[in-house]
Amino acid sequence: MDTNSLAVRPIFYLRLGVAVLSFIGFWVCLARVESPTAVSLKGPGLSRVVPASPASADSTVPEGGGGPAGSGSQEVDPVVMIDPGHGGLDGGTVGNGLLEKDWTLKIGLALAVELRARGHQVALTREADETLPLMDRPAVVNAAARVALLSIHFNAGTADASGVETWYSWPKKPETMARLHDAAGVPVAGVLPDDGQQLALAIQAAVQSSTGARDRGIKNREDLAMTSRTICPAVLIECGFLSNAAESRKIQEAGYRKKMVQGIANGYEDWLKNRWTVPAVPVVVAPPSAVSGADAEH
Ligand SMILES: [Zn+2]
Repeated sequence: MDTNSLAVRPIFYLRLGVAVLSFIGFWVCLARVESPTAVSLKGPGLSRVVPASPASADSTVPEGGGGPAGSGSQEVDPVVMIDPGHGGLDGGTVGNGLLEKDWTLKIGLALAVELRARGHQVALTREADETLPLMDRPAVVNAAARVALLSIHFNAGTADASGVETWYSWPKKPETMARLHDAAGVPVAGVLPDDGQQLALAIQAAVQSSTGARDRGIKNREDLAMTSRTICPAVLIECGFLSNAAESRKIQEAGYRKKMVQGIANGYEDWLKNRWTVPAVPVVVAPPSAVSGADAEH
């Protein structure tokens, strides 16, 4: 046995071990530096954290940025915020003996049941005949994380007016746009996608198909409180004219309302499946804020 080797080998193995550990440590550190890190969004009232890469992590991916639903991505579907229009002291419009607030609630509650049965998370701005002032509602919606808003209303007009229409707002109120721009990290002059228009298109098509009602199309209006003051994809669905005798009779039929509800749910799911094709807008979480002004409600 070489006496020299007895003395040298422990030192050799010690040096080898140190080298191996240093090498591993270097790559662990490098991996940490290179792995996606969370980016804190800055802006008025914004506290949301969005991961740097949509593929990186959890449920806080940018809206529409994680690939199609069911594609194996870690995208998490939004909560559907259903807003049955009016309620309590605010009866809404009246036609043929029907009070709008009663029928928006019926549709809203049935829609919640339908969407939950399909596996979606649902929240409602009201679940009973409660007074919830119009200008307080956007703050309720904005306080929730990752939502898509479906505001339910009925129309009134001349006796021969009929059909369904879906409203959205783009651009939204300047203060809402500023919050969206801040959250997206792009200049105010930058171009953001309008997810609400896509949602309106999908719902209008599906409701018309399901009910056979006259198709009045999608409409953009900058001063609708629910769609212009909410920072999420938002639509307002006019489910028919209470002032139209034939349509008011249909609305009282459970079978027709079921078609209406299924149409809205189908349209929402169509949008959900395809929204990844729309450039991403981060969904932001903001505390309720005071709003003012006299926006239209419908
Ligand atoms: Zn209304």
